[in-house]
Amino acid sequence: METKTDIIIVGAGPVALFTVFEAGLLGLECVLIDNLDKVGGQCSELYPGKPIYDIPGVPYQTAQEHVDALLEQIKPFNYEIHLNERVNSIEELSDEDISSWKVTTSEGSNFQAKSLFIAAGAGSFEPRRPPNIEDPDQFLEKGVAYAVKDKEKYKDKNLIIFGGGDSALDWTVELADITKSLKLVHRRDSFRGVPNTEAQMRELVETGQVDLKTPFVIEKLIFDKEIKGVSVKNFETKEIEDLECDEVLFLFGLNKKLGPIVDWNLELSNKKISVDTEKFQTSAEGIFAIGDINDYPGKLDLILCGFHETTLAVQEAYRRSNPGEKVPFAYTTSNTKLQKKLDA
Ligand SMILES: Cc1cc2nc3c(=O)[nH]c(=O)nc-3n(C[C@H](O)[C@H](O)[C@H](O)COP(=O)(O)OP(=O)(O)OC[C@H]3O[C@@H](n4cnc5c(N)ncnc54)[C@H](O)[C@@H]3O)c2cc1C
Repeated sequence: METKTDIIIVGAGPVALFTVFEAGLLGLECVLIDNLDKVGGQCSELYPGKPIYDIPGVPYQTAQEHVDALLEQIKPFNYEIHLNERVNSIEELSDEDISSWKVTTSEGSNFQAKSLFIAAGAGSFEPRRPPNIEDPDQFLEKGVAYAVKDKEKYKDKNLIIFGGGDSALDWTVELADITKSLKLVHRRDSFRGVPNTEAQMRELVETGQVDLKTPFVIEKLIFDKEIKGVSVKNFETKEIEDLECDEVLFLFGLNKKLGPIVDWNLELSNKKISVDTEKFQTSAEGIFAIGDINDYPGKLDLILCGFHETTLAVQEAYRRSNPGEKVPFAYTTSNTKLQKKLDA
């Protein structure tokens, strides 16, 4: 099945979300694809609780509040978001006057549009793999995971979570209620996550709902067709201990990688995608790069710069979807269609 739309957006960070707004004003529809399990890009993944002070007209907002506000702002418009899917490859379809772009994702989905917007930030975030385990990906779907895609999977299971950051703490707190048993394993007895979540986790340890194991590191997986348990090593005494389980979550954080984008034959500079500053178009017609992923003289990696970039890029996307038509320009203050949608 192939979905056709006006603009395919690689990424669902703040700049991608604002693209939906600008495209929506012109009647264009968007499909957003992100390999993370949530929208918001760096804001939601790296610093959700931190304050942002330089969004025009918004004196203060946490990064997550900013993402939530962007989602609220695009409510009137038609768009789809596909999470947990990485855009792996792109293909030009030049059977019409204005060619289209077809993308294929890691899940095998296909999307087609006249305009492809790359809003991939610093590249795709890839989960950090556990150390000491050779080719850990072979155990995926057999009891090992690097992200929680569906909470229900852990219902009544014996789960072991590894990690010491926000994700490990958040999921420990959230899953403790539904699992049969939950162990949290970390190399030291201090955590890098939000103090309030750490406090909640420690309360669950007090009540016996969570078994906290520190200072331990993963030594090996105990495996027989499916995961049966893990061997962990005490970081100080070097003693090895075996722990039984049905599921393991390695939540060691994320690495940023340009990923498949390097193979898309686009002109790069400074490990980013070169664009012009009129349309923010790349070296390929119909492919635009907006936000942190692009490079041009004077580029700053700021959210407000990405908002400007996509506003201009969307004008060209309109021309591609509606050849020969003048791009309608109207201030939102006098956009009665939008006001009606908001009132509805
Ligand atoms: C700690 C910190 C504090 C910051 N503070 C501020 C601030 O105060 N003000 C400010 O303006 N900016 C700030 N920034 C920068 C700001 O977060 C970025 O400018 C902004 O997030 C860029 O948005 P984006 O949409 O371009 O990309 P991102 O937010 O990076 O989102 C890109 C998304 O694309 C996805 N992606 C990449 N490749 C693929 C692929 N092949 N397939 C599918 N998905 C893909 C990624 O997983 C990611 O979710 C800060 C950054 C950090 C790290």
